[in-house]
Amino acid sequence: MTGSESPAHPSAGVPHGDRTTGAPSGPVERARRFVEEVLAPTRRSIDREDRIPEHILEGLRRGGFLGLSLPREYGGLGLSTLEVARTVEEIGAGSAAVGTLVAVHVSVASYPILRWGTSAQKEAYLPRLARGEWIGAFALTEPSAGSDAQSLETSYGREGTAFRLRGSKTFISNARLAKVFVTFARSPEAPAPGISAFLVHPGTPGFTISPPFRKLGIHGSDTCELSFDDVPVPPEGLLGSEGQGFRIAMETLGAGRIAIAALSLGIARAGYEALREELARRSEPWQRALLARAHVDVEASRALVERAAVLRDDGLPFAQAASTAKLYASQAAFRIASNGLDVAGREALDRENPSPLEQLFRDSRVLSIVEGTTEIQEMILGRSLVPTPPGAPPRAPS
Ligand SMILES: Cc1cc2nc3c(=O)[nH]c(=O)nc-3n(C[C@H](O)[C@H](O)[C@H](O)COP(=O)(O)OP(=O)(O)OC[C@H]3O[C@@H](n4cnc5c(N)ncnc54)[C@H](O)[C@@H]3O)c2cc1C
Repeated sequence: MTGSESPAHPSAGVPHGDRTTGAPSGPVERARRFVEEVLAPTRRSIDREDRIPEHILEGLRRGGFLGLSLPREYGGLGLSTLEVARTVEEIGAGSAAVGTLVAVHVSVASYPILRWGTSAQKEAYLPRLARGEWIGAFALTEPSAGSDAQSLETSYGREGTAFRLRGSKTFISNARLAKVFVTFARSPEAPAPGISAFLVHPGTPGFTISPPFRKLGIHGSDTCELSFDDVPVPPEGLLGSEGQGFRIAMETLGAGRIAIAALSLGIARAGYEALREELARRSEPWQRALLARAHVDVEASRALVERAAVLRDDGLPFAQAASTAKLYASQAAFRIASNGLDVAGREALDRENPSPLEQLFRDSRVLSIVEGTTEIQEMILGRSLVPTPPGAPPRAPS
C-alpha cells in the first residue's frame, strides 16, 4: 500500500439509515438472530472439524449475507460500508471462520468486480456472488511475495486475444468453495508496474487447488495453495485493463481492511463476553480491571471501525482510518482473549473441554497477519503521517 488515500467507493452518498440513531438495521438484527440460533451452537464443531457445514452456507445465502455489499440491481442488499461492517461484526462474533468467509467474499472478492468489471462481467458475476451461488476469492499472496505484493512472480503470456497464467499463490481464503478467483499476474509486456488482474475459475485445465493448510486458528476457513500450469483465460477474463492489476489489488485491500477490522471487532466482543462470563465465577479486583480494559478495547475498536466505514461511505479518504482500525481491532481481540486465558486459568487450556477463550485466542492471533500485518499497517500509517523523504525507494507492501 502506497499510503496514498483511496478514492470514494461506488456506494458513496447512499443513505445510511441507522447512522444517527444507532439502532441496528434489518440485516444486523438478522445476523444477530442467525448467530444466536444457528451459528453459535456450531462454533466449536467448525473449529474442531475444520469445516463450515453446508447448513451454515445455506443460512448465509438465505439471510442475504453473501450479498451485503452489492447493489440491489445485482440482487445484493446494497448496504452502506457502515452496515456491512456492523453485520460482519455480528457474524464474526459468532464464528471467526464464517466471519472470514463473509468478509473476504463481500469485500476483496466482490468489490473489484463491481469497481472494475465491464457491464458483461458485472452481469455474469455479481448476481451469482450476491446470491451466494458462487463464492469468491482473492488471490494475491505467493510463496515468496506476501507483504511485498509488488514482487509477485505468477506470470502470464498472450495467446492471440487470450491469456495463459503460470505460477502459484498461497494462503488463499475460501479456496475450496470459490467459483471465481480474482487473480494477479505479471507480464513484461504489460504497462508498468506490469501486473494485471484476471477472473479464474476452478476446473480450468492446469488450475489446481491444494488441500487446506492446517493453521493455528480460524479453523473452517480454507486457506489453500493454488497452482497455475499454463491456465487459459479468455479475453473476457481480464479485469480492468492490462497493467492496472496492482492498483486494483491495493485499492481492494484498502477497502477490505474495514471488513477485517470489523471481523476483529466481532472476535474482540466475543472475547469480552467470554471474559465477563468467567468473572461471574471469580471476583479478584485485578480480574475486574482486565474486564474494564476489554470494555475500553471493544469500544475503541468499534469507534475506529465505524469511523473508517463512515469516511468511505461519505466518499472521503479512508485508507489511514482503515489501517488504524485493522491494526487496533486485531490487536485488541488478541489482548482480550489472552487476558481472558489468564483469568480462566489452567481449565481454559484443556483441549478436551476448552473454554471459548482458547479458540478466540488462536483465532485472534491469525488476524494480525491477514490482509496486511501489523508492521505493514504501521508502515502505511507512518507514511501517511509523515511525508516520505526525497530519494527514498518506492515500495508498496500489501
Ligand atoms: C488466515 C489467512 C488468510 C489469508 N487469506 C488470503 C487471501 O485470501 N488472499 C491473499 O492473497 N492472501 C491471503 N493471506 C495472506 C496474507 O495476506 C499474508 O500472509 C500477509 O500479507 C503477510 O505476508 P507473509 O505471510 O508472506 O509474511 P511476510 O511478508 O513474509 O512477513 C513476515 C514478517 O515480516 C514483516 N515485514 C514484511 N515486510 C516488511 C516491511 N517492509 N517492513 C517491516 N516489516 C515487514 C511482516 O510484518 C511480518 O512480521 C492470508 C493469510 C492468512 C494468515
